[in-house]
Amino acid sequence: MSRLLFQGVPGVADESDRLRTGSAASSLIPDPCSLFPVSDKLHEECGVVAIYGHPHAAREAYLSLYALQHRGQESAGIATADGHHLANIKGMGLVSEIFTDDVLAKLPGRMAIGHTRYSTTGDSALLNAQPIRVDSTKGLIAIAHNGNLVNLGNVRARLERAGAYFQTTSDSEIIVQLIAHSSAGSLVDAIADSLSQIEGAFSIVMMTRDRIFAARDPHGFRPLSMGRMKSPEGNDIVVFASESCAFDLLRAEFVRDILPGELVMVSEDGVTSRQYASGTPQSSCIFEHVYFARPDSRIFGRWVQESRDQMGRQLARESGVAADVVVPVPDSGVTAALGYAEEAGIPFRFGLIRNHYVGRTFIEPEQRVRDFGVRLKLNPVRNLLEGKRVVLIDDSIIRGTTSRKIVRMVRGAGAKEVHLRISCPPTISPCFYGVDTPSKRELIAANNSIDEIRQFIEADSLAYLSMEGLLNSVRDENQVGYCTACYTGNYPTKWVDVEEILPAAAAV
Ligand code: SF4
Repeated sequence: MSRLLFQGVPGVADESDRLRTGSAASSLIPDPCSLFPVSDKLHEECGVVAIYGHPHAAREAYLSLYALQHRGQESAGIATADGHHLANIKGMGLVSEIFTDDVLAKLPGRMAIGHTRYSTTGDSALLNAQPIRVDSTKGLIAIAHNGNLVNLGNVRARLERAGAYFQTTSDSEIIVQLIAHSSAGSLVDAIADSLSQIEGAFSIVMMTRDRIFAARDPHGFRPLSMGRMKSPEGNDIVVFASESCAFDLLRAEFVRDILPGELVMVSEDGVTSRQYASGTPQSSCIFEHVYFARPDSRIFGRWVQESRDQMGRQLARESGVAADVVVPVPDSGVTAALGYAEEAGIPFRFGLIRNHYVGRTFIEPEQRVRDFGVRLKLNPVRNLLEGKRVVLIDDSIIRGTTSRKIVRMVRGAGAKEVHLRISCPPTISPCFYGVDTPSKRELIAANNSIDEIRQFIEADSLAYLSMEGLLNSVRDENQVGYCTACYTGNYPTKWVDVEEILPAAAAV
């Protein structure tokens, strides 16, 4: 069973202190995916959900998190409130591993917020798992946050000088401490005041004993949507989630995106909203459309499936090649590959099959063989590849090592030629807004020409989607502004870690 952390749960002693001193024995099982990564994909840090007004709010939050599991697989948590108490349970592992029926039964109340997270393992990771529950001068507050703050150092130091005691090393707690130390008269004013002081990416949901709040940063980096549904008694229920695919599982209706710089409050008086910041140009994460979000989600006013289809079509127009078959690197390359194949008039085939059942209980073989991690998860369909000129479609090359293994695998299955096409531009800069990226010196495209990368991955040809092509693929009447910093190095916020963005050569 996953190790759990209980806070404010009726009849269960809080474990926060034991974890903080590091005395708790860890029962964590190493994740085989970290031992044998299928690819050097970038990791999203989180997904968030909130439910207001459902008699089984914890269960609804659980279902929503289940739909957002792709946004983080290392830890998950749910906090609930019943008007008087605010209980919080979080643990390391997948949502379904942590929240059994017994655990959900310990979370009463008609309000819930939830979080799923990618992080490193260890007890400190469990303490930093979310929601974070803080007993502040403004009362009990639980917060769940997707994104990353970028002016952390200044704010944290200022708060500590003002007497703030931090329970975690998570930047999300800074938001709660700012609220606690705000001189604003009402809680909603304190939240607005606090959010306007921080910079970076934050799509957050917060809960007190009787209210739920949802907000996005002024740039609108990460997605956050609002939906509605009816309770079994016919009452209105308001839900929030990082992606609209979570609403489908609840049978909730998508209402709208939370706007950049907007703070929404849900209480017994209904839904109220205010803009706590305005005038900041929107810079929503374009990589959500390329890779992170599920294709069945609608984010930033647009279906992800449509964006990826357009990326594939544009890629075919920009860098078509004579070939017999188009093969996606599953799963994230599938939609772009379908668009590419249709545009190029080349048959689409599932020439690589992904094993979805490589779970956390995988037992490491006595002796690891070369490329074992990739072969554990992907297997070529030899009769589709043998003697063929193959166009392989993927959504990114980060370090290049995994792409090389996949190219070798396809060639090893008898392909005559392997042409790799990537549905976004080369990744040349790290992300500071909630995506776990290697440093610039580890990004293969930051330090090598496209032909050098081609040689490294051993492909017959290699092409990326152009920046203009990517922007055209996500452009529509909504006129959303996008962050493209990992492809351009142009960061939309003022503060970034300069060391990290220096050209690799200069940093040596
Ligand atoms: S740097 Fe890249 S991954 Fe990060 S927010 Fe911008 S587009 Fe998204």
